[in-house]
Amino acid sequence: MLKEQLSFGLARLAALARQDDWRAGEVEGLTPTQGDILRTLLRRPDGLRLTALASHLHITQPTASDAVAALERKGLVQKRADPADGRALLLRVTRGGRALAQRWPLSFGLVVDALQPDDQAAMLGVVTRAIHTLQRRGAISPQRMCLSCRYFTPNVHGGTSQPHHCRFIDAPLSDGDLRVDCPEHEAA
Ligand code: SF4
Repeated sequence: MLKEQLSFGLARLAALARQDDWRAGEVEGLTPTQGDILRTLLRRPDGLRLTALASHLHITQPTASDAVAALERKGLVQKRADPADGRALLLRVTRGGRALAQRWPLSFGLVVDALQPDDQAAMLGVVTRAIHTLQRRGAISPQRMCLSCRYFTPNVHGGTSQPHHCRFIDAPLSDGDLRVDCPEHEAA
C-alpha cells in the first residue's frame, strides 16, 4: 500500500514536471531533452563528450546526437577538440546557449516551490540517498554528489543541525546543504 501510493504520487509529480518542461520548451523552441543538455553543459564549463552526456542523462547516444545536432544548428552548442585527446570532441554551450540555459526554468521547479524550506531540505536528503543507492546498483550513472565524494564525512557532528562535513571547504553540512551535482566532487 505504502509503496503503491508513493509510486502513484511520484509518477504524478514526474508527469507534471515533464509537462512543465514541454511548456517551457514551446516558448524557447526546444525539446525537454535539448533543455536538459543545455542545463548539463552549463554546469560543465570544461565540456563533456557525447558518450558521457548520454550516460549522464540516461538517453541513448543516437538521441543525444540528434538533440546536440539540433542545438548546434541553433547556435546554442559547439564542438571543440578535446585537449586530452585530439580525436575526441567536447561539447560546450555557446554564449547564446549559456544565456538560454540560465533563463530555462528548473525542472521540477513547480514541485520544489510547493514545498516549505524544511521539507525541501528533508526531500534533498531523501533524493540524494535514493540516487546513491541506485548508483551503487548500477541503475543510474555516477553523479558528482556528496554521498560518493572523498571529501564527504557523514554524521560526524552528532546532535547538531549540520551533522555532516565537507573536507574540501572544511565546513559542516546539513541535509539541505548536500549536493547532487558539485563541481568540486572527487569520487571516493
Ligand atoms: S566537495 Fe562537493 S560533493 Fe564533495 S563533499 Fe564537498 S560539497 Fe559535497
